This record gives sequence, structure tokens and C-alpha cells, in this order.
Amino acid sequence: MSNKKIGIMGGTFNPIHNAHLYMAEQAREQFHLDRVIFIPSGFSYFKQGMEIPDGSIRYQLVKKAVESNPYFTVSRIEIDRPGDTYTIETLEQLSDMYPGDDLYFIMGADSVNSLDKWVRFTDILEICTILAAVRNDTDEKTLVKKIEELKSIVPSADIRMIRTGRLDISSTMIREKIHNKQSVRYLLPEECLEYIVMNNLYAEDNQISLNSDDVKIY
Ligand code: NAP
Repeated sequence: MSNKKIGIMGGTFNPIHNAHLYMAEQAREQFHLDRVIFIPSGFSYFKQGMEIPDGSIRYQLVKKAVESNPYFTVSRIEIDRPGDTYTIETLEQLSDMYPGDDLYFIMGADSVNSLDKWVRFTDILEICTILAAVRNDTDEKTLVKKIEELKSIVPSADIRMIRTGRLDISSTMIREKIHNKQSVRYLLPEECLEYIVMNNLYAEDNQISLNSDDVKIY
């Protein structure tokens, strides 16, 4: 049996949105990945002080977002693992689970710029290929310089770029809009939006909106 190419899309996903899904799909298509596993983070030490919904809630949102794509799945490995979430531990767990398969970690270009601050980043660069989503507003010169710097530390590092164009959506933008009762329709899958409304996430009183006759989903 030939080795499979497995994409890994890690994220806080607070909440997941269409740019996450689009970049994973672009990575799958451009790098001929056999599948992409979405991995919502557990406790993120780098987001301390932020109010983040429980991992199980973010997992449900991701599950709803990916279920229509046969190449996408979601995993609980980070939310079920006690303690802080470190990507290297996830990658080691996945390489034990899928021996012989090739791992491709998908991330935004901004994350590449801070990758050398991640725990055991040299091991990360040894164990997987990094696919960096380059947006139209990405400063490519800085990115290329960073990639060269990382390669000078780990010569075997394989960091490639995914062309995604500009995707002007962020989880922060969605949370703020919901909080301000502005529409977020078409920024994330409808199923996720319904889950957010039904579970009263990101706002104190968005629940009423689904119960009224003139259904308005913020
Ligand atoms: P996130 O906010 O949910 O975003 C997930 C990914 O999507 C990020 O790489 C982000 O890239 C990208 N993204 C979001 N919106 C985008 C858009 N409009 N266009 C293109 N890309 C977009 O997750 P996160 O909090 O950044 O965490 C990402 C992963 O890094 C997680 O798996 C986390 O555990 C891991 N991490 C690990 C360590 C560690 O091991 N020490 C430290 C930090 C993070 P950008 O960064 O470019 O926005």
C-alpha cells in the first residue's frame, strides 16, 4: 500500500470559518493530499487570558463545518489530551497512528513568522512538511526570509506556499459581529451559525433570533 499524504489543519477555531475551510481545500487540491484532519486545539497556553469556549463546543462546530466534504475529518486528540496543547505532541501522536504516511501541517503565513517560538519547533520541521497559506496581503519578502532562516536551523525543513488569495475573514471579526448583532451569514457554514445561535455562543441573547417568525440569524 502506498504512503498517504495527510493534511493537518490545526486551529483554535473560535469559531471555524470559511477561510479555514477554503485554505484546507486549497492545500488538499494543490498538494494532492489524500485527506485533511481538522484538529481543534485543547488548552492553548498562547491564548491565556482569552475566554475560549470549551474544546467540545469548538469540536462540534468543526464537525458540522466539515461533514459535507468527504476528504475532511475532525479529531479530538488535542482536546482529549490533558495539559497545554503543543503541536509537536500531536504530530508525534499522528505519526504513531499513521506510520509511513506523510504529514502536511497547514498554517497561515503569519503563523510561519512565529513558528520558531513554538515548543520544539525544530522537531516540528523534521516530522512534517509545512504548507503556508499566502494571502494577497502577505509580506512575501519577510516570509521568504523567515523560511530561509528556519531552513538554516533545520536544513531538511520543507516549507511550501499555498496560494489562497485574500480571504478577509477572521474568528475575531465573527465574534465581534455576533456580539454587535451584525450579520455573519456567508462567513461560516450555515450549520455552524445555527449551532452558535442555538447554544447562545459569543453573545448574551442571540437565542431568540431562531425562535421568532422573521428568522434572523446574526
Ligand atoms: P486559528 O486562529 O483558529 O487559525 C487557524 C489557522 O488558520 C492559522 O494558521 C491561521 O493563520 C489561519 N487563518 C485564519 N484565518 C485565515 C485567513 N483569513 N486566511 C488565511 N489563513 C487564515 O488558530 P491559531 O490559534 O492560530 O492556532 C493554529 C495552530 O497553531 C493550532 O493548531 C495551535 O495549536 C498551533 N500552535 C502551536 C503552538 C505550539 O505548539 N507551541 C503555538 C502556537 C500555535 P494566521 O496565523 O496566518 O492567521
